[in-house]
Amino acid sequence: MDDLKFGTRNKRGDWTPNEPAKTAPLFVFPPRPLAVLKWLPHYFFPYNALFFLSAWAWWLWVVPDTETMRRLAWGWVLWLLAVNAVAVFLWYFAFELRLYIRRAQGTRFKYNARFPADTPSDVFWFRSQNLDNMLRALLSGVPIWTGLQVLVLWAYANSIGNWLSWADHPLWLAVLCLLVPIIHETHFFLIHRLIHTPLLYKWVHSVHHNSVNPSPWSSLSMHPVEHLLYFAPILYHLVIPSNPVAALFQLHLAGFGAVPGHVGFDRIELGEDIAIESHAYIHYLHHKYFEVNYGDGLIPFDRWLGTFHDGSKEAEARMQERYRRKVARLNARRAATAPDTAS
Ligand SMILES: [Zn+2]
Ligand SMILES: [Zn+2]
Repeated sequence: MDDLKFGTRNKRGDWTPNEPAKTAPLFVFPPRPLAVLKWLPHYFFPYNALFFLSAWAWWLWVVPDTETMRRLAWGWVLWLLAVNAVAVFLWYFAFELRLYIRRAQGTRFKYNARFPADTPSDVFWFRSQNLDNMLRALLSGVPIWTGLQVLVLWAYANSIGNWLSWADHPLWLAVLCLLVPIIHETHFFLIHRLIHTPLLYKWVHSVHHNSVNPSPWSSLSMHPVEHLLYFAPILYHLVIPSNPVAALFQLHLAGFGAVPGHVGFDRIELGEDIAIESHAYIHYLHHKYFEVNYGDGLIPFDRWLGTFHDGSKEAEARMQERYRRKVARLNARRAATAPDTAS
């Protein structure tokens, strides 16, 4: 597929889309019903629908019966850990294998022309971004994900929380499942903004940002504290009237849904003329510039707060102006608190 029909490539070989990144047409004033209708299929396909189905698959074929889950026991907990680890490995590795190991589409639609495997760095374990990111995902990400999953399932099995059945409350549960991505986006924006405060950034979030040029394994390459915060929305389902499937959907959206945002390619080619959009550009720009795009654009938080970067020259100029003002502010504060050397 000719990626230059959709974007441009600079001297370094980095590809940039012609169209600036867009936030979803929700929560805008005046409302844009036609734009919402046009956008709506993207809300479901392919990712959200896939993770909703995977939540059902877990509930039907992986999660043990309620009687078993009443008691915490190693057997079922380790079983869930193993299934989650295998599923994460297969899902993440499928993207890595095709795009980063086989390099099946070369650098077509790739935002950063370099491949992490070609640039070893001391910031990573074993100087390898891939190995570092994969180990962090599997050694810390999956156990914390499973821990929260076990906690919520055990709680439901012991009548803690408000477990509604699909038969009695189909409408509310359908609405709740529609809201799951919105809950995720709101929570993600808030915790992400929090861990960008100087102390937490240094202690926690800098681990994730070591990957300036992310690949699929970077998605869950986080400090354990960030893993805990990132997967925490499943706990909301113990407070709001819900159902284990909706809770699992919340978890899968975070765990499996992180991949498209870190895939590093704007489109994933499926054939000569077919490609699916990754919607990765907004988060790619976050990894590139750090202090823009704290959200993924489902809700326009960054637009409201002036931190949105859509990849355009105008957005670049706005960001530089914001940095300039920040540096001036810091310098003024430093000058005000510095001891008076003149006297
Ligand atoms: Zn990221
Ligand atoms: Zn960040």
